[in-house]
Amino acid sequence: MIFLVLNYFFVSAQKVSATSKPKLVVGIVVDQMRNDYIYRYWNRYGNGGFKRLIAEGYHFKNAHYNYVPTYTGPGHCSIYTGATPRAHGIIGNDWFVKTNATTTYCVLDTNEQTVGSLSKNGKMSPKNQLSSTIGDELKMNSNQRSKVFSVALKDRSAVLPAGHAANGAFWFDDASADFISSTWYMKELPNWLKLFNEKKFAKTYIEEGWHTLYPMETYTNSLPDDNRYEGAPGKEKPVFPYDYKTQLAKNNWGIIKSMPAGNSLTNDVAIACLLNENLGKGDETDMLCISFSSTDYVGHYFGTRAIETEDVYLRLDKDLEELLNTLDKELGKNNYTVFLTADHGGADVPNHLLDYKIPAGYIKEKQIVKEVRNFFKTNYGDTLLLANMSNEQLFLNEQKIESLKFNKVELEERLCAFLTTLPGIAEAYPSSVLKNMAYDKNDFRALLQNGYNHKLSGNIAIIYQPGWMDHSNKGTTHGAAYNYDTHVPIIFYGNGVKKGENFNYVTITQIAPTICELLRINQPNSTVGEPLNNYFK
Ligand SMILES: [Zn+2]
Repeated sequence: MIFLVLNYFFVSAQKVSATSKPKLVVGIVVDQMRNDYIYRYWNRYGNGGFKRLIAEGYHFKNAHYNYVPTYTGPGHCSIYTGATPRAHGIIGNDWFVKTNATTTYCVLDTNEQTVGSLSKNGKMSPKNQLSSTIGDELKMNSNQRSKVFSVALKDRSAVLPAGHAANGAFWFDDASADFISSTWYMKELPNWLKLFNEKKFAKTYIEEGWHTLYPMETYTNSLPDDNRYEGAPGKEKPVFPYDYKTQLAKNNWGIIKSMPAGNSLTNDVAIACLLNENLGKGDETDMLCISFSSTDYVGHYFGTRAIETEDVYLRLDKDLEELLNTLDKELGKNNYTVFLTADHGGADVPNHLLDYKIPAGYIKEKQIVKEVRNFFKTNYGDTLLLANMSNEQLFLNEQKIESLKFNKVELEERLCAFLTTLPGIAEAYPSSVLKNMAYDKNDFRALLQNGYNHKLSGNIAIIYQPGWMDHSNKGTTHGAAYNYDTHVPIIFYGNGVKKGENFNYVTITQIAPTICELLRINQPNSTVGEPLNNYFK
């Protein structure tokens, strides 16, 4: 009898391990990472970071954002909800609030207080995030036994991945150089984070400055160090080395965001969280969300082809190696699952494109606003019919349109026709088109619709011509429906994933349902993505 019981347990234990779930899911978002950065820097990466994820994991090489605008807030929210702004409500980083004609920030919550600093930088929460996240479903499924934590330099990049029910989200406070949180999650920082903050690692990193990882002449994938496409924070010329001691003297802690060390600091706090919160050591699957924001700041300042950009990726590769090695050591090699993606891509610097005779240009939202006001004055005798322009959308003063008895549908259509006469504007659509029509998934109008929230979005959405942007003539930005902003890597690695790659068109909203199917839990409540798990069988 004893023998039989033992035997029974032996068999069932084997069964469990054969179908076992990961002990920990690690979500990694690299801010502003285009998929081509995998290829461009391939020969320069070590074997333990990006190369390891791709060599042993599954790389979706033709993965895209399926909505606009391609910004950080919507990006992080869509990755973890499997939904688009249409449902999850994060329609930009900031947006115009129609009901009271003010502007709000995606994770701002004035009802919450900062935890861990005297600054106001912790008055944040996911209250504007209308969909459940992977972490939320994990918490519900385990009756709170799963632990969910999130870390990033940017507040929105920590808050939106964490979701509503997380144990904690921690982000960098420019005012104190500490990682902080919000009363949404906790009353006090955990002890390990207090100790981490006391060490003031940010100061040490800033003191070290920024030198290239390898000799300058080896950066042949990139443009020469001094070129007219790049701007540099706190410096006249965008050239190495970057000595930030003067910034330190001014207590400008935020400068670390624009250095590769900002990613290393994020990695440090992520590893401290992993170890001290004992993630992956309980009976239920835990989750750690990490967003590396420095790549975005560097991209904005220096563009997509700078030595600085190459260097920030080569150094991130080292951070990833350290993270994966730590996960191996703590949890065992096949006991955790990682996904790596980006919140958006990044455009080539328009002036650089023009030097290659490729059409591109600079457009100013302020100038469009001026032109639209003139249009309204000439045709409707009123400049105040435009309430706001933001995130490539125009918000009209609906009350005024009604009180002056203008035909709204006709007015919107006339304005769209006018907008497309302006330089740099390719297409303009009224809300009736965005609300009521159906388009093929690759049609720009489908991307606009997926980004269009019927309650929150504006009256008219516009699309700039390819290569055009509202940005200074140094560095670059993102936000468009074009390939350079939508095409990002999606890589799965570890428990439940097999090695492979493909070129099928897949979307960012497929990550969340895939992870949930791996964990055999409910998919987030408004996901529109199909799980990718068939590729792993
Ligand atoms: Zn950005």
